[in-house]
Amino acid sequence: MGGACTSAGALIHLQTDFLIIGSGIAALRAAVELAGAGDVLILTKSEPAEGNTGYAQGGIAAAVAPDDAPALHAADTIGAGAGLCDEPAVRVLVEEGPRYVRELIDWGTAFDRQPDGSLSLAREGAHSVRRVLHARDATGREIGGVLGRRTAAQTGLRMVSHALACALVTEHGRCCGVLFLTEQGEAGRVDAAATLMATGGAGQVYAETTNPEVTTGDGVRMAFAAGAAVADLEFVQFHPTVLDVPGAPRFLLSEALRGEGAQLVNAAGDRFMVREDPLGELAPRDRVARAIVRERERTGHAVFLSLQHLGADAVHARFPLISDACRRAGLDLARDRIPVSPAAHYVMGGVAADLDGHTSVPGLFAAGEVACTAVHGANRLASNSLLEGLVFGARAGAAMRAWDRDTSGWRGPEGIDLASIQPDNKRRESLTMTMRDVQRLMWRNVALFREAGALGHAAAELEAAWLGLPDGAPVSIDGARHASLVTVAFLMARAALRREESRGTHFRVDCPQRDDHVWRKHCGDVLMQP
Ligand SMILES: Cc1cc2nc3c(=O)[nH]c(=O)nc-3n(C[C@H](O)[C@H](O)[C@H](O)COP(=O)(O)OP(=O)(O)OC[C@H]3O[C@@H](n4cnc5c(N)ncnc54)[C@H](O)[C@@H]3O)c2cc1C
Repeated sequence: MGGACTSAGALIHLQTDFLIIGSGIAALRAAVELAGAGDVLILTKSEPAEGNTGYAQGGIAAAVAPDDAPALHAADTIGAGAGLCDEPAVRVLVEEGPRYVRELIDWGTAFDRQPDGSLSLAREGAHSVRRVLHARDATGREIGGVLGRRTAAQTGLRMVSHALACALVTEHGRCCGVLFLTEQGEAGRVDAAATLMATGGAGQVYAETTNPEVTTGDGVRMAFAAGAAVADLEFVQFHPTVLDVPGAPRFLLSEALRGEGAQLVNAAGDRFMVREDPLGELAPRDRVARAIVRERERTGHAVFLSLQHLGADAVHARFPLISDACRRAGLDLARDRIPVSPAAHYVMGGVAADLDGHTSVPGLFAAGEVACTAVHGANRLASNSLLEGLVFGARAGAAMRAWDRDTSGWRGPEGIDLASIQPDNKRRESLTMTMRDVQRLMWRNVALFREAGALGHAAAELEAAWLGLPDGAPVSIDGARHASLVTVAFLMARAALRREESRGTHFRVDCPQRDDHVWRKHCGDVLMQP
């Protein structure tokens, strides 16, 4: 199939061998893998660099240090994942990760180095050793730039930006492309032999998030509507430390700050994490985030990050972006106490995918934050998601190359307990919610502290809003954004209500214990086509 483009009336019609939706780390690494295999078309809904990858600060974890080993990295990943990591997926991540990271270095990625030329490695929460490669505090931008330049030079690859994929096209249960909308109001269709969903996360479902505007969960909505299984959507990671200054953007204050010695203090200057958790400030993110909320409630005052005991020059040199963001909010990162609060950061669940990115819909692959390979279990270890995008993006690209010959289809993740959702049974009870309504409801009822009453209320309201969505593919960009937020929020609230235990990021005030006997399993949903 060639890279043909025809226009029938207002409908743009494109054809390609391989379609990639998104332009973050997972998408671009998959595109590199597809070089020479046929035509590759990348659709991305904003500027190519706009997505979580471009905002990633702290770094990318990989066992490259002499005192480290993939087995140690695996143990830390599995420990953070609270009993739900898929161990074969973790093995792939930690064993293949160093090779892909070295490849990034060979392609020109400028990770920070020590004066002797060796890699400078940071330590982050729940890592047992220093293993996070970083490029100051703009690691994602550095990696994205390198991959972007590499794919731009690739023959047979074309990127269309400001084109939003709004619905998958399926024939006889097989994915054969996508419908899209451009910012100029045009509509189009791409026919493809294999399609990769690499649309990233869904932080925008919450009123408070570190994620940029593009993260509306479109990939989960489109895949779910096409019949793909989704899993583990109750597991959302809330980053504990986001700049909390009224009127200033909720800028992420990377965990690497705490890795370099930043302390969390209350208004009286007390280091409360030391009494809250044996790991202190470097406890897993869910524990730090909940401790911050509890400390704010206990004292009635803000909680702060303090770097006042560290050298000011070193702090500003190591964290230039964060220093700038603080300066814009009227604060000096090295000298002032910085008010912080948690915000939605990363979605562990997503479109169920196996280790090669196959989903339950033939012809549809998923990689990166949109996918659920269960590599992170119930809680992602810091700096493992750039690595996930890199490793599983490459693997999905390789599987797409072999797609015509590969008849084995979907193989995992193992043992998802799938429930069916019927779209049509309550049409008459539909309810309209604005996007802001959804974000506020999710932040109030489906965030750090959850309980059955609030979850049940949210799930019922969101189900009614979901049932009220117009039939068929969205016809406007706002309509697509709205449909994605409603659908993903509904699936998250429903999953959080179903899981009657606490595990990893999912904390139920009404069932605070982890229950391995009943709940050590992945739960998901699948749409019953009417
Ligand atoms: C502030 C911040 C800091 C972070 N720091 C780190 C860190 O230090 N280390 C780490 O490992 N992880 C970090 N993360 C998480 C990490 O950045 C992401 O999980 C990872 O980059 C996701 O990569 P991706 O390729 O899956 O998605 P993304 O990079 O988000 O890319 C998704 C792409 O899909 C496009 N897209 C979405 N919907 C559509 C659609 N309908 N049609 C067309 N295109 C679409 C988007 O525009 C974007 O190009 C951070 C995240 C944030 C927000």
